[in-house]
Amino acid sequence: NTPLHELDPEVAAAVDAELVRQQSTLEMIASENFAPLAVMEAQGSVLTNKYAEGYPGRRYYGGCEHVDVTEQIAIDRVKELFGAEYANVQPHSGASANQAALFALAQPGDTILGLDLAHGGHLTHGMRLNFSGKQFDVVAYHVDGSGLVDMAEVERLAKEHRPKVIIAGWSAYPRQLDFAEFRRIADEVEAYLWVDMAHFAGLVAAGLHPNPVPYADVVTSTTHKTLGGPRGGIILARKDFAKKLNSSVFPGFQGGPLEHVIAAKAVSFKVAASEDFKERQRRTVEGARILAERLTAADAREAGVNVLSGGTDVHLVLVDLRESELDGQQAEDRLHEVGITVNRNAVPNDPRPPMVTSGLRIGTPALATRGFTAEDFAEVADVIAETLKPSYDAAALRARVEVLTAKHPLYPGLNK
Ligand code: PLP
Repeated sequence: NTPLHELDPEVAAAVDAELVRQQSTLEMIASENFAPLAVMEAQGSVLTNKYAEGYPGRRYYGGCEHVDVTEQIAIDRVKELFGAEYANVQPHSGASANQAALFALAQPGDTILGLDLAHGGHLTHGMRLNFSGKQFDVVAYHVDGSGLVDMAEVERLAKEHRPKVIIAGWSAYPRQLDFAEFRRIADEVEAYLWVDMAHFAGLVAAGLHPNPVPYADVVTSTTHKTLGGPRGGIILARKDFAKKLNSSVFPGFQGGPLEHVIAAKAVSFKVAASEDFKERQRRTVEGARILAERLTAADAREAGVNVLSGGTDVHLVLVDLRESELDGQQAEDRLHEVGITVNRNAVPNDPRPPMVTSGLRIGTPALATRGFTAEDFAEVADVIAETLKPSYDAAALRARVEVLTAKHPLYPGLNK
Protein backbone atom coordinates (compact mmCIF):
# COMPACT_ATOMS: atom_id res chain seq x y z
CA ASN A 1 0.00 0.00 0.00
CA THR A 2 2.83 2.36 -0.82
CA PRO A 3 1.55 5.78 -1.93
CA LEU A 4 2.15 6.84 -5.54
CA HIS A 5 4.78 9.43 -4.65
CA GLU A 6 6.90 6.79 -2.97
CA LEU A 7 6.22 3.90 -5.32
CA ASP A 8 6.62 5.77 -8.57
CA PRO A 9 8.05 9.29 -8.20
CA GLU A 10 8.45 9.68 -11.98
CA VAL A 11 4.76 9.20 -12.71
CA ALA A 12 3.76 11.16 -9.58
CA ALA A 13 5.87 14.13 -10.70
CA ALA A 14 4.16 14.23 -14.10
CA VAL A 15 0.71 14.01 -12.47
CA ASP A 16 1.64 16.84 -10.09
CA ALA A 17 2.93 18.93 -12.99
CA GLU A 18 -0.30 18.34 -14.92
CA LEU A 19 -2.31 19.59 -11.93
CA VAL A 20 -0.22 22.78 -11.87
CA ARG A 21 -0.63 23.19 -15.65
CA GLN A 22 -4.42 22.94 -15.33
CA GLN A 23 -4.43 25.38 -12.40
CA SER A 24 -2.15 27.99 -13.96
CA THR A 25 -3.49 28.18 -17.52
CA LEU A 26 -6.84 28.93 -19.14
CA GLU A 27 -8.20 25.62 -20.44
CA MET A 28 -10.25 26.44 -23.55
CA ILE A 29 -10.22 23.18 -25.49
CA ALA A 30 -13.92 22.87 -26.27
CA SER A 31 -14.05 19.13 -25.53
CA GLU A 32 -12.45 19.42 -22.08
CA ASN A 33 -13.79 20.12 -18.62
CA PHE A 34 -12.84 19.70 -14.96
CA ALA A 35 -14.49 16.73 -13.25
CA PRO A 36 -15.68 17.34 -9.67
CA LEU A 37 -13.58 15.80 -6.89
CA ALA A 38 -16.42 13.37 -6.06
CA VAL A 39 -16.33 12.08 -9.63
CA MET A 40 -12.57 11.56 -9.42
CA GLU A 41 -13.00 9.88 -6.03
CA ALA A 42 -15.46 7.35 -7.49
CA GLN A 43 -13.19 6.82 -10.49
CA GLY A 44 -10.19 6.23 -8.23
CA SER A 45 -12.08 3.73 -6.06
CA VAL A 46 -11.79 -0.04 -5.46
CA LEU A 47 -14.39 -0.58 -8.18
CA THR A 48 -11.46 -0.58 -10.59
CA ASN A 49 -10.69 -4.10 -9.32
CA LYS A 50 -13.98 -5.70 -10.30
CA TYR A 51 -14.83 -7.85 -13.31
CA ALA A 52 -18.51 -7.56 -14.22
CA GLU A 53 -19.09 -8.79 -17.78
CA GLY A 54 -22.80 -8.62 -18.50
CA TYR A 55 -25.38 -6.17 -17.20
CA PRO A 56 -26.85 -5.48 -13.73
CA GLY A 57 -28.59 -8.63 -12.48
CA ARG A 58 -27.17 -10.73 -15.37
CA ARG A 59 -23.43 -10.99 -14.87
CA TYR A 60 -20.90 -13.61 -15.85
CA TYR A 61 -18.93 -13.12 -12.61
CA GLY A 62 -19.72 -13.48 -8.92
CA GLY A 63 -19.49 -10.68 -6.38
CA CYS A 64 -21.22 -8.09 -8.55
CA GLU A 65 -23.82 -7.04 -5.95
CA HIS A 66 -22.29 -3.62 -5.35
CA VAL A 67 -21.32 -2.72 -8.90
CA ASP A 68 -24.85 -3.75 -9.89
CA VAL A 69 -26.05 -0.96 -7.61
CA THR A 70 -23.76 1.72 -9.05
CA GLU A 71 -24.36 0.71 -12.67
CA GLN A 72 -28.14 0.63 -12.18
CA ILE A 73 -28.02 4.07 -10.54
CA ALA A 74 -26.05 5.38 -13.53
CA ILE A 75 -28.59 3.89 -15.98
CA ASP A 76 -31.61 5.23 -14.09
CA ARG A 77 -30.14 8.71 -13.68
CA VAL A 78 -29.08 9.16 -17.28
CA LYS A 79 -32.47 7.93 -18.57
CA GLU A 80 -34.17 10.46 -16.34
CA LEU A 81 -31.75 13.25 -17.27
CA PHE A 82 -32.41 12.94 -21.00
CA GLY A 83 -35.89 11.37 -21.00
CA ALA A 84 -34.65 8.15 -22.65
CA GLU A 85 -36.32 4.73 -22.52
CA TYR A 86 -33.01 2.85 -22.64
CA ALA A 87 -29.44 3.60 -21.61
CA ASN A 88 -26.14 1.75 -21.82
CA VAL A 89 -23.43 3.29 -19.63
CA GLN A 90 -20.67 0.80 -20.43
CA PRO A 91 -18.92 2.25 -23.52
CA HIS A 92 -15.32 3.03 -22.57
CA SER A 93 -15.29 6.20 -24.65
CA GLY A 94 -17.27 8.22 -27.16
CA ALA A 95 -15.65 6.36 -30.05
CA SER A 96 -16.56 3.00 -28.44
CA ALA A 97 -20.16 4.13 -28.01
CA ASN A 98 -20.28 5.17 -31.65
CA GLN A 99 -18.78 1.90 -32.86
CA ALA A 100 -21.32 -0.14 -30.90
CA ALA A 101 -24.19 2.09 -32.05
CA LEU A 102 -23.23 2.00 -35.72
CA PHE A 103 -22.82 -1.78 -35.80
CA ALA A 104 -26.19 -2.18 -34.07
CA LEU A 105 -27.90 -0.11 -36.78
CA ALA A 106 -26.01 -1.18 -39.91
CA GLN A 107 -23.82 -3.88 -41.44
CA PRO A 108 -20.37 -3.36 -42.93
CA GLY A 109 -20.80 -2.23 -46.53
CA ASP A 110 -24.01 -0.30 -45.79
CA THR A 111 -24.16 3.38 -46.67
CA ILE A 112 -23.96 6.01 -43.92
CA LEU A 113 -24.43 9.77 -44.27
CA GLY A 114 -22.54 12.06 -41.88
CA LEU A 115 -21.02 15.53 -41.59
CA ASP A 116 -17.62 15.79 -43.30
CA LEU A 117 -14.73 15.80 -40.80
CA ALA A 118 -13.30 18.90 -42.46
CA HIS A 119 -16.65 20.66 -41.93
CA GLY A 120 -16.94 19.79 -38.21
CA GLY A 121 -17.85 16.08 -38.16
CA HIS A 122 -16.12 13.47 -36.00
CA LEU A 123 -13.71 10.71 -37.03
CA THR A 124 -16.33 8.08 -36.19
CA HIS A 125 -18.85 9.64 -38.58
CA GLY A 126 -17.10 8.19 -41.62
CA MET A 127 -13.50 9.43 -41.75
CA ARG A 128 -11.55 7.31 -44.19
CA LEU A 129 -8.96 5.97 -41.73
CA ASN A 130 -11.53 5.29 -38.98
CA PHE A 131 -13.49 2.01 -38.64
CA SER A 132 -16.54 3.93 -39.86
CA GLY A 133 -14.84 4.98 -43.07
CA LYS A 134 -13.11 1.65 -43.65
CA GLN A 135 -16.11 -0.59 -43.13
CA PHE A 136 -19.01 1.52 -44.36
CA ASP A 137 -19.80 3.23 -47.61
CA VAL A 138 -19.59 6.88 -46.57
CA VAL A 139 -21.41 9.84 -48.04
CA ALA A 140 -20.67 13.22 -46.44
CA TYR A 141 -22.72 16.38 -46.15
CA HIS A 142 -21.25 19.82 -45.56
CA VAL A 143 -21.79 23.33 -44.22
CA ASP A 144 -22.84 26.00 -46.70
CA GLY A 145 -21.20 29.37 -47.41
CA SER A 146 -22.62 30.87 -44.22
CA GLY A 147 -21.19 28.06 -42.12
CA LEU A 148 -24.51 26.31 -41.43
CA VAL A 149 -25.23 22.64 -42.11
CA ASP A 150 -26.72 22.49 -45.58
CA MET A 151 -30.01 20.67 -44.94
CA ALA A 152 -30.93 20.84 -48.62
CA GLU A 153 -27.75 18.87 -49.35
CA VAL A 154 -28.56 16.38 -46.57
CA GLU A 155 -31.94 15.75 -48.18
CA ARG A 156 -30.53 15.54 -51.69
CA LEU A 157 -27.78 13.09 -50.68
CA ALA A 158 -30.20 11.04 -48.58
CA LYS A 159 -32.57 10.65 -51.53
CA GLU A 160 -29.75 9.90 -53.94
CA HIS A 161 -27.86 7.36 -51.78
CA ARG A 162 -30.60 6.02 -49.46
CA PRO A 163 -28.25 5.53 -46.49
CA LYS A 164 -29.00 2.98 -43.77
CA VAL A 165 -28.02 5.54 -41.13
CA ILE A 166 -28.01 9.33 -41.07
CA ILE A 167 -25.66 10.80 -38.47
CA ALA A 168 -26.40 14.18 -36.92
CA GLY A 169 -23.70 15.47 -34.60
CA TRP A 170 -20.43 17.32 -34.62
CA SER A 171 -17.09 18.04 -32.99
CA ALA A 172 -16.63 21.56 -34.32
CA TYR A 173 -19.82 23.44 -35.14
CA PRO A 174 -21.07 26.56 -33.39
CA ARG A 175 -24.82 26.23 -34.00
CA GLN A 176 -27.74 23.94 -33.12
CA LEU A 177 -28.92 21.20 -35.46
CA ASP A 178 -32.53 20.88 -36.60
CA PHE A 179 -33.33 17.39 -35.28
CA ALA A 180 -36.94 17.50 -36.52
CA GLU A 181 -35.72 18.14 -40.05
CA PHE A 182 -33.15 15.31 -39.80
CA ARG A 183 -35.98 13.03 -38.62
CA ARG A 184 -38.20 14.04 -41.50
CA ILE A 185 -35.44 13.30 -44.02
CA ALA A 186 -34.57 9.98 -42.34
CA ASP A 187 -38.23 8.91 -42.45
CA GLU A 188 -38.48 9.88 -46.08
CA VAL A 189 -35.64 7.53 -47.07
CA GLU A 190 -36.32 4.93 -44.35
CA ALA A 191 -32.96 5.51 -42.67
CA TYR A 192 -32.14 5.30 -38.99
CA LEU A 193 -31.29 8.60 -37.33
CA TRP A 194 -28.32 8.50 -34.98
CA VAL A 195 -27.48 11.69 -33.07
CA ASP A 196 -24.02 12.03 -31.53
CA MET A 197 -24.47 14.70 -28.85
CA ALA A 198 -20.99 14.24 -27.33
CA HIS A 199 -20.23 17.95 -27.45
CA PHE A 200 -23.52 19.50 -26.42
CA ALA A 201 -24.94 16.89 -23.99
CA GLY A 202 -24.37 19.20 -21.01
CA LEU A 203 -26.37 21.95 -22.69
CA VAL A 204 -29.17 19.46 -23.39
CA ALA A 205 -29.19 18.31 -19.76
CA ALA A 206 -29.49 21.94 -18.68
CA GLY A 207 -32.35 22.64 -21.10
CA LEU A 208 -30.27 25.11 -23.13
CA HIS A 209 -30.21 23.05 -26.31
CA PRO A 210 -32.94 20.96 -28.00
CA ASN A 211 -32.95 17.36 -26.80
CA PRO A 212 -32.32 14.89 -29.66
CA VAL A 213 -33.74 11.90 -27.74
CA PRO A 214 -37.37 12.31 -28.90
CA TYR A 215 -36.25 12.48 -32.56
CA ALA A 216 -33.42 9.96 -32.88
CA ASP A 217 -33.43 6.18 -33.01
CA VAL A 218 -30.13 6.16 -31.14
CA VAL A 219 -28.23 8.92 -29.31
CA THR A 220 -24.61 8.57 -28.25
CA SER A 221 -22.51 10.86 -26.10
CA THR A 222 -19.30 11.23 -24.23
CA THR A 223 -19.56 11.99 -20.51
CA HIS A 224 -16.49 14.20 -20.18
CA LYS A 225 -17.14 17.23 -22.39
CA THR A 226 -19.90 19.73 -21.51
CA LEU A 227 -21.44 16.98 -19.36
CA GLY A 228 -18.44 17.36 -17.02
CA GLY A 229 -18.03 13.75 -15.86
CA PRO A 230 -15.31 11.09 -16.18
CA ARG A 231 -13.93 10.17 -19.61
CA GLY A 232 -16.39 7.73 -21.14
CA GLY A 233 -19.36 7.09 -23.41
CA ILE A 234 -23.08 6.35 -23.19
CA ILE A 235 -25.80 5.18 -25.57
CA LEU A 236 -29.46 6.18 -25.26
CA ALA A 237 -32.29 4.81 -27.36
CA ARG A 238 -35.87 3.71 -27.58
CA LYS A 239 -36.69 0.41 -25.82
CA ASP A 240 -36.95 -1.54 -29.08
CA PHE A 241 -33.21 -1.06 -29.72
CA ALA A 242 -32.20 -2.27 -26.23
CA LYS A 243 -31.30 -5.85 -27.07
CA LYS A 244 -29.30 -5.01 -30.17
CA LEU A 245 -27.39 -2.20 -28.48
CA ASN A 246 -26.63 -4.19 -25.33
CA SER A 247 -25.20 -7.07 -27.30
CA SER A 248 -23.28 -4.73 -29.60
CA VAL A 249 -21.47 -3.17 -26.59
CA PHE A 250 -20.99 -6.52 -24.80
CA PRO A 251 -20.00 -9.03 -26.08
CA GLY A 252 -19.84 -7.24 -29.47
CA PHE A 253 -17.00 -4.84 -28.82
CA GLN A 254 -16.15 -4.79 -25.13
CA GLY A 255 -15.29 -7.19 -22.36
CA GLY A 256 -15.42 -6.16 -18.71
CA PRO A 257 -17.02 -2.76 -18.11
CA LEU A 258 -15.04 -0.09 -16.26
CA GLU A 259 -17.19 -0.13 -13.14
CA HIS A 260 -15.14 2.58 -11.41
CA VAL A 261 -15.79 4.88 -14.37
CA ILE A 262 -19.47 3.88 -14.43
CA ALA A 263 -19.79 4.84 -10.74
CA ALA A 264 -18.15 8.16 -11.59
CA LYS A 265 -20.63 8.58 -14.47
CA ALA A 266 -23.48 8.01 -11.97
CA VAL A 267 -22.11 10.80 -9.75
CA SER A 268 -21.76 13.15 -12.70
CA PHE A 269 -25.38 12.48 -13.78
CA LYS A 270 -26.51 13.50 -10.28
CA VAL A 271 -24.49 16.70 -10.61
CA ALA A 272 -25.91 17.32 -14.11
CA ALA A 273 -29.47 17.27 -12.72
CA SER A 274 -28.70 20.08 -10.24
CA GLU A 275 -29.51 23.79 -10.40
CA ASP A 276 -25.78 24.58 -10.01
CA PHE A 277 -25.06 22.63 -13.17
CA LYS A 278 -27.73 24.53 -15.12
CA GLU A 279 -26.28 27.82 -13.92
CA ARG A 280 -22.81 26.67 -15.01
CA GLN A 281 -24.08 25.72 -18.46
CA ARG A 282 -25.73 29.14 -18.78
CA ARG A 283 -22.34 30.78 -18.06
CA THR A 284 -20.74 28.39 -20.56
CA VAL A 285 -23.01 29.53 -23.40
CA GLU A 286 -22.86 33.17 -22.33
CA GLY A 287 -19.06 33.01 -22.25
CA ALA A 288 -18.95 31.63 -25.79
CA ARG A 289 -21.30 34.38 -26.97
CA ILE A 290 -19.09 37.05 -25.38
CA LEU A 291 -16.05 35.51 -27.05
CA ALA A 292 -17.77 35.53 -30.45
CA GLU A 293 -18.82 39.15 -30.01
CA ARG A 294 -15.32 40.26 -29.07
CA LEU A 295 -13.70 38.34 -31.92
CA THR A 296 -16.04 39.92 -34.47
CA ALA A 297 -15.23 43.47 -33.27
CA ALA A 298 -13.62 45.85 -35.75
CA ASP A 299 -10.06 45.57 -34.36
CA ALA A 300 -10.17 41.76 -34.46
CA ARG A 301 -11.42 41.81 -38.03
CA GLU A 302 -8.63 44.23 -38.93
CA ALA A 303 -6.18 41.60 -37.66
CA GLY A 304 -7.77 39.09 -40.05
CA VAL A 305 -9.78 37.28 -37.35
CA ASN A 306 -13.27 36.11 -38.30
CA VAL A 307 -15.81 33.92 -36.55
CA LEU A 308 -17.41 31.11 -38.54
CA SER A 309 -21.18 31.50 -38.92
CA GLY A 310 -20.77 34.95 -37.33
CA GLY A 311 -21.36 33.76 -33.76
CA THR A 312 -22.39 30.81 -31.62
CA ASP A 313 -25.38 29.15 -29.93
CA VAL A 314 -23.31 26.66 -27.97
CA HIS A 315 -20.14 26.34 -25.88
CA LEU A 316 -17.57 27.06 -28.56
CA VAL A 317 -16.44 29.54 -31.17
CA LEU A 318 -14.73 28.65 -34.43
CA VAL A 319 -12.18 31.24 -35.43
CA ASP A 320 -11.37 31.64 -39.10
CA LEU A 321 -7.78 32.83 -39.68
CA ARG A 322 -7.72 32.69 -43.46
CA GLU A 323 -7.29 36.49 -43.59
CA SER A 324 -4.83 36.60 -40.68
CA GLU A 325 -1.04 36.56 -40.88
CA LEU A 326 -1.24 33.59 -38.48
CA ASP A 327 -2.16 30.03 -39.44
CA GLY A 328 -3.90 27.71 -36.96
CA GLN A 329 -0.65 26.26 -35.62
CA GLN A 330 0.94 29.68 -35.07
CA ALA A 331 -2.19 31.01 -33.36
CA GLU A 332 -2.40 27.94 -31.09
CA ASP A 333 1.29 28.37 -30.17
CA ARG A 334 0.90 32.06 -29.50
CA LEU A 335 -2.07 31.52 -27.18
CA HIS A 336 -0.10 28.77 -25.45
CA GLU A 337 2.69 31.27 -24.88
CA VAL A 338 0.34 33.55 -22.90
CA GLY A 339 -1.19 30.63 -20.96
CA ILE A 340 -4.32 29.84 -22.97
CA THR A 341 -4.87 26.29 -24.25
CA VAL A 342 -6.94 25.87 -27.42
CA ASN A 343 -6.71 23.62 -30.45
CA ARG A 344 -6.18 24.52 -34.07
CA ASN A 345 -9.00 23.41 -36.28
CA ALA A 346 -9.62 23.19 -40.00
CA VAL A 347 -12.12 25.65 -41.43
CA PRO A 348 -14.40 24.46 -44.27
CA ASN A 349 -12.40 24.25 -47.52
CA ASP A 350 -9.22 24.96 -45.57
CA PRO A 351 -6.31 25.80 -47.90
CA ARG A 352 -3.78 24.50 -45.31
CA PRO A 353 -3.04 20.88 -44.36
CA PRO A 354 -4.78 19.29 -41.31
CA MET A 355 -1.64 19.53 -39.15
CA VAL A 356 -1.51 23.30 -39.70
CA THR A 357 -5.07 24.48 -40.49
CA SER A 358 -6.45 28.01 -40.78
CA GLY A 359 -8.61 28.10 -37.69
CA LEU A 360 -9.03 27.68 -33.96
CA ARG A 361 -11.71 26.00 -31.87
CA ILE A 362 -12.17 27.81 -28.56
CA GLY A 363 -14.52 26.51 -25.88
CA THR A 364 -15.80 27.77 -22.53
CA PRO A 365 -16.95 24.67 -20.54
CA ALA A 366 -13.83 24.24 -18.40
CA LEU A 367 -13.61 27.92 -17.45
CA ALA A 368 -17.32 28.01 -16.62
CA THR A 369 -16.76 25.03 -14.32
CA ARG A 370 -13.92 26.98 -12.75
CA GLY A 371 -16.44 29.72 -11.91
CA PHE A 372 -15.77 32.27 -14.66
CA THR A 373 -18.48 34.93 -14.94
CA ALA A 374 -19.53 37.10 -17.89
CA GLU A 375 -17.07 39.74 -16.71
CA ASP A 376 -14.21 37.21 -16.60
CA PHE A 377 -15.11 35.88 -20.05
CA ALA A 378 -15.01 39.44 -21.42
CA GLU A 379 -11.45 39.76 -20.10
CA VAL A 380 -10.50 36.34 -21.53
CA ALA A 381 -11.95 37.39 -24.90
CA ASP A 382 -9.94 40.61 -24.83
CA VAL A 383 -6.74 38.75 -24.01
CA ILE A 384 -7.35 36.34 -26.91
CA ALA A 385 -8.14 39.18 -29.35
CA GLU A 386 -4.99 41.05 -28.29
CA THR A 387 -2.85 37.92 -28.60
CA LEU A 388 -3.97 37.37 -32.19
CA LYS A 389 -2.96 40.89 -33.28
CA PRO A 390 0.30 41.39 -35.21
CA SER A 391 1.85 43.30 -32.31
CA TYR A 392 1.21 41.62 -28.98
CA ASP A 393 2.88 41.89 -25.59
CA ALA A 394 3.25 38.31 -24.39
CA ALA A 395 4.42 39.18 -20.86
CA ALA A 396 1.58 41.64 -20.24
CA LEU A 397 -1.01 39.19 -21.61
CA ARG A 398 0.40 36.33 -19.54
CA ALA A 399 0.08 38.57 -16.44
CA ARG A 400 -3.60 39.14 -17.24
CA VAL A 401 -4.08 35.36 -17.52
CA GLU A 402 -2.44 34.95 -14.12
CA VAL A 403 -4.91 37.40 -12.54
CA LEU A 404 -7.79 35.29 -13.87
CA THR A 405 -6.36 31.94 -12.75
CA ALA A 406 -5.66 33.35 -9.27
CA LYS A 407 -9.22 34.68 -9.06
CA HIS A 408 -10.71 31.21 -9.66
CA PRO A 409 -8.53 28.59 -7.97
CA LEU A 410 -8.88 25.07 -9.38
CA TYR A 411 -8.82 21.99 -7.15
CA PRO A 412 -7.47 23.91 -4.13
CA GLY A 413 -5.90 21.55 -1.64
CA LEU A 414 -4.93 18.88 -4.18
CA ASN A 415 -1.33 20.02 -4.59
CA LYS A 416 1.24 17.82 -2.85
N1 PLP B 1 -18.21 12.05 -30.90
C1 PLP B 1 -17.94 13.35 -30.99
C2 PLP B 1 -18.93 14.26 -31.65
C3 PLP B 1 -16.74 13.85 -30.48
O1 PLP B 1 -16.45 15.15 -30.62
C4 PLP B 1 -15.84 12.95 -29.87
C5 PLP B 1 -14.55 13.41 -29.28
O2 PLP B 1 -13.89 14.25 -29.71
C6 PLP B 1 -16.15 11.61 -29.83
C7 PLP B 1 -17.36 11.19 -30.34
C8 PLP B 1 -15.18 10.57 -29.32
O3 PLP B 1 -15.03 10.56 -27.97
P1 PLP B 1 -13.74 9.83 -27.33
O4 PLP B 1 -12.60 10.75 -27.55
O5 PLP B 1 -14.15 9.66 -25.89
O6 PLP B 1 -13.59 8.52 -28.00
